[in-house]
Amino acid sequence: MGSGEEASTAIIIGAGIGGLVAAVGLRRAGWSVTVLERAPVIAEVGAGLTLWPNAERALDTLGIEIRSRAVPTISRGSLRTPTGRWLRRSHPMDVGVLAMHRADLHDVLRKRLPETALHTDAEVVSVSPKGVVVCRCGGEENELTADLVVAADGVNSVTRRTLWSGDPVFQGRTVWRGVTPPGSVWPVEESLTLGRGVQAGVLPLPDERVYWFVTVNADRPNQSYADNRREALHRVGDWHHPIPALIATTPEDQVLHNDVVDIDPVPTFVNERVVLLGDAAHAMPPDLGQGACQAIEDAVVLAACLSSGDGLQKYDDLRRARVHPMAEAARASVRRTSNTGLLAHLTVAVTARMIPPSAWRNATAQWSDWSPPELPKGKNKHA
Ligand SMILES: Cc1cc2nc3c(=O)[nH]c(=O)nc-3n(C[C@H](O)[C@H](O)[C@H](O)COP(=O)(O)OP(=O)(O)OC[C@H]3O[C@@H](n4cnc5c(N)ncnc54)[C@H](O)[C@@H]3O)c2cc1C
Repeated sequence: MGSGEEASTAIIIGAGIGGLVAAVGLRRAGWSVTVLERAPVIAEVGAGLTLWPNAERALDTLGIEIRSRAVPTISRGSLRTPTGRWLRRSHPMDVGVLAMHRADLHDVLRKRLPETALHTDAEVVSVSPKGVVVCRCGGEENELTADLVVAADGVNSVTRRTLWSGDPVFQGRTVWRGVTPPGSVWPVEESLTLGRGVQAGVLPLPDERVYWFVTVNADRPNQSYADNRREALHRVGDWHHPIPALIATTPEDQVLHNDVVDIDPVPTFVNERVVLLGDAAHAMPPDLGQGACQAIEDAVVLAACLSSGDGLQKYDDLRRARVHPMAEAARASVRRTSNTGLLAHLTVAVTARMIPPSAWRNATAQWSDWSPPELPKGKNKHA
């Protein structure tokens, strides 16, 4: 695949971060790419994202420039109590992590692809291991074939559920997220505030916007609320400034609510001509801030394995070895920080005080200390 006169063809299911980076990577490797996205428009939700140096390096390999749309951040490096007392305080440049609005990353990625490669309102309803994809496009069912199908269709992946197995696993948490309008609550200092069974994050974004999240223990999944902003405020409305102000200034219809789900380890990411990528392959709780970073790594490694001739087996081996320990660590972090017992809570708080920012930085480096494989210079003049 990828070396004949005619360009090899790939269908990518899903235009999330993983699917779009995969599209850029495969085009760079000389493939002809079609992205099928079920949503009527290709867009990301109104939330922020932290990108670790491993993802930044992977994007660099593809020439995807994000730094002008991002700001340095410390992601969990600065911790506070609900009254506002600092348990640990880091400097944003300490760890080389970036924060950006998800919509900005989507915008950057979309601009790297020709419009003809992207198809919205295109829901994939079945996939065969031979590379046959049935898609409901604009009310009609079409059958498409390709040399390779990349299933980047997220944690609820229809591809994984039909060709593999494995439903999402609820991790006993639910989360509200939002981004404030520019300048509405500014300036703010980044922090993660630890309550008992409740955490609230504050991350400055470019253009004086602020990404906030409130994570809460929950005993059952799929609970919905009439007013998500009110629910978030109900949990942390009496916490330190600026948490209540950030939530209050976010328009109610832009407050997001999701359960935290992941999947059990998938034994292989490859089934004949079909590969899993991103959350479809290895959704993990957001505690390490690595889910999207790993989708980006997947995409670059896939492009490298296909252009070097190493093939899908190598992709499978490399990626499972990398992501499975990380997903397990993210789950362990949920278990640790969800414990509402007073002793467990105090242990987290005391440990946070005792660990200096430098030791914390070293601990996080185990996940971000990764370099992407070499990619040949673009075979596709448009990539
Ligand atoms: C609260 C929270 C905070 C997070 N914070 C971070 C963070 O700071 N840093 C980080 O790296 N990660 C973070 N993550 C994880 C990150 O959001 C995901 O890992 C990442 O978005 C996965 O990207 P993806 O492209 O694999 O899947 P998705 O973003 O889920 O995209 C899948 C796409 O496929 C489409 N699709 C689905 N089914 C079909 C179908 N049948 N046909 C066609 N299209 C289909 C969907 O519409 C969607 O567009 C966080 C996650 C959560 C829940």
